[in-house]
Order: sequence, then C-alpha cells, then structure tokens
Amino acid sequence: MSDTRPKHHSARDVLRELFPESYRELFGESGAAEGPLTLGLYPVADGRLALVRGDQLAEFTPLDARGRSALHCDLCHYTRSRTEAALYRVVVGARRTRYVTLCLGTEACQKRAGTPALAHLADRIFPIERLYVD
Ligand SMILES: [Zn+2]
Repeated sequence: MSDTRPKHHSARDVLRELFPESYRELFGESGAAEGPLTLGLYPVADGRLALVRGDQLAEFTPLDARGRSALHCDLCHYTRSRTEAALYRVVVGARRTRYVTLCLGTEACQKRAGTPALAHLADRIFPIERLYVD
C-alpha cells in the first residue's frame, strides 16, 4: 500500500477503464465531450450505478425489492414507488457497507437534486477503503 504515484484521472478516465461499454454508451466512441467530469452518477452494467468523483469510483448494486412500502430517494428526496426507485448497496470498506435509496431514472433524479446534493451523497460514500492492493 505505497502507491504514491500522482494520479490525475478524471471521472471519465475511471469510467472508461472500468466500464468501457457503459462509457461508450454515455459518451460515444471518441468520448469527446466538454471538459473532464468531476462528479456524477452513471448507469453501468446490470442495473448498477457508478458514483464517480475525481479518480474515485463507488459501485451501487441494486438489492431485490422487498415489501411494498414507498421508498424515499436519498438524493432528490422524492418519495417513490418500488418501481421508480431501488435500494442500493455500496461497499465502502472491508467491513463497511452503506445503503442508499435512489431513483432508477438517475438523470432526472440528479437534475432534481442538483450538484450540491450529489456532492453531499459523495461525502457519505468517499473515501472508499481500498480492498485490493495493486
Ligand atoms: Zn431521486
């Protein structure tokens, strides 16, 4: 655990590295879009979401919905039905897991919530304890 190399990866680099297919869907082959991303929640494979901030990435894995009670989105704070939102599990360390409820339509959700709310969510998730040593 002595990886002290300076890293200047943007969120986009991280996404491209870890989820190349999702990356192409989001940004196209070239990935040429305006400026480097610093913070965002992106749909990736298998219904998962990737929260990216700088060179950090957290994976949100949807859990099977149980029960019928409404869900309260932790990002935009709307009350959603079970078909509009999901409970996600985020592993943030060897023995630490966070649970976050989010709208399935993450683009609209992020628009409702705005950047400050997204930054607040990121503060709850990051930093991720490194589980693997390079
Ligand atoms: Zn929401």
